[in-house]
Amino acid sequence: MNEYTGIAASPGISIGKSYLYIEKEYSTPIYDIPEAEIKSEHERFQGAVNKATEEIKKLQNQENKALSKEESRLMDSHILLLNDPDIKSKIVKNLQEKKKNVEWILIQVIEENIQKLNALDDDYLRERATDLVDISQRILRHLLFKKRESLADIKEEVIVVANSLLPSDILVMNKKMVIGLVTDTGSRTSHISILAKSLGIPAVVGLSDLSGQVVPGDEIIVDGNKGKVIVQPDKKLKHLYIRNKEKWKAREIKLLDMKELPAITLDGKTVKLKANIEFPEELESVISHGADGIGLYRSEFIFIKPLIFPSEEEQFIEYRNVLEVMGKKSVCIRTLDYGGEKITSAFREKIEENPILGWRAVRFYISHPEVLKTQVRALLRASAYGNLKIMFPMISGAGELEKVLVMVEEVKCDLKKNRIEFNENIEIGIMIEVPSAALTSDILKSYVDFFSIGTNDLIQYTIAVDRGNERVAYLYDPFHPAVLRLIKMIIKEGKEAGIDVEMCGEMAGNVYTTVILLGLGLEIFSMSSFRIPKVKKIIRSISFEDARKLTETIMNLSHADKIEETIKTWMEEHLDFDLD
Ligand code: PEP
Ligand code: MG
Repeated sequence: MNEYTGIAASPGISIGKSYLYIEKEYSTPIYDIPEAEIKSEHERFQGAVNKATEEIKKLQNQENKALSKEESRLMDSHILLLNDPDIKSKIVKNLQEKKKNVEWILIQVIEENIQKLNALDDDYLRERATDLVDISQRILRHLLFKKRESLADIKEEVIVVANSLLPSDILVMNKKMVIGLVTDTGSRTSHISILAKSLGIPAVVGLSDLSGQVVPGDEIIVDGNKGKVIVQPDKKLKHLYIRNKEKWKAREIKLLDMKELPAITLDGKTVKLKANIEFPEELESVISHGADGIGLYRSEFIFIKPLIFPSEEEQFIEYRNVLEVMGKKSVCIRTLDYGGEKITSAFREKIEENPILGWRAVRFYISHPEVLKTQVRALLRASAYGNLKIMFPMISGAGELEKVLVMVEEVKCDLKKNRIEFNENIEIGIMIEVPSAALTSDILKSYVDFFSIGTNDLIQYTIAVDRGNERVAYLYDPFHPAVLRLIKMIIKEGKEAGIDVEMCGEMAGNVYTTVILLGLGLEIFSMSSFRIPKVKKIIRSISFEDARKLTETIMNLSHADKIEETIKTWMEEHLDFDLD
């Protein structure tokens, strides 16, 4: 039995067999082909393409797995690429000229195409290199008779153990069969953790080298509440965890009793608790946890990794569905946060040395206005069907915001010209997640109807600590005085301007920061829906005046750990229930 400690990424306890998922590179052989075998070499290639195409189609038609539109679109785009006539004719030509085996020819052709894409002055097309790598690996696997390993193929309940996972791995995985996730890399706010939470799968990340210590089929306990992983537990510990799992579930169910109650402090201050979602499938959980609306719908998961972005119509239907389910409650949809950690690309390092500080979100719209305009048009059209708010990510200053707002105006004018219905008074807001935006919130407030504080990125950029890097995860601290000062400033500026200030970063759902945020005057919190009951319970158990006084003391402290300790002690004294 071995016990490992990582970062508690998604709560809950799972016990099951390990499924090792380590991405492998395929080495490509090179050898000469006699003239007489060129034809059969070409047939071998075509056979591998056919098998790869069939493989994708089978994935699309799996009975036990309803594919989301984005998954299906990604697969359609790969089928198109697999059968690209240009690539095929280059393979034939190179086979005849170079007389080498087709695996080697394929790699040459793909690399040549990738170089051409990378040389273009069009970042969007350059990103398409990823899809070429993906399909070439798929063909190679068939040429080399390697068995395809995919999280989509999982047929029995397992705990996935990986060195790292991409958001697209989670999108395609057989979600019904994956009961736990553990990864060597990652942090509490990396996108894998956020996705695991939204799917309700217990997860522990940042385990350094766990994937090297586990054998497929090992029994594993994942404790997503405490960040612990136990490999091959003994009987006694396993029974203890079975009991803990039942107790935890019972507590979570009991918390749902508060669903209809307002989030009101003992001295009568009411706040709103909204939900963050990544997939429309989460709406049921949003409603069952009693959310006051959706404070963040991360729309990039509709877009992730397709060759062609979803059309206006496809987006419109998706957004309208969410609005119709939520009825009168507000739904804030964030426009595509392209780039950074979210877009998967084996070749990204060649394109961008530092994607977190690179061509992300609003910076992408400026070189691709058609992508933003299509999305805004779909959103505005959907606004006629519910209470929609639109929000832009990664704004770093007024100049950038003005450019985006001009695009919104252009779309609005066009819709009016064509007599297409939309809510002309729709609220438009921005995420404050870059320190330069926080520091200029006094300027930005005059442009928008609301701010939403994105603490996941705000902490990353303020403390200069990569939110996905487990080595520096100890530095990633919501209690850092710099972070708290920026939050205080944003709330103050928003209030002075009379606009709403919401928070949709993970800090809004962190039970240890609820009191400070309340004390700083935050009135709208948005978090993973399962966190809502616990945060509500805290709010209903304390007085706003006490929270304000505590916050005043804390804001004078110089060290993050002292702040954290002071709050935890205060909570122990004021709350009589378990926070885990
Ligand atoms: C944030 O940065 O706090 C946020 C909510 O956005 P994301 O986690 O999607 O970057
Ligand atoms: Mg962000």
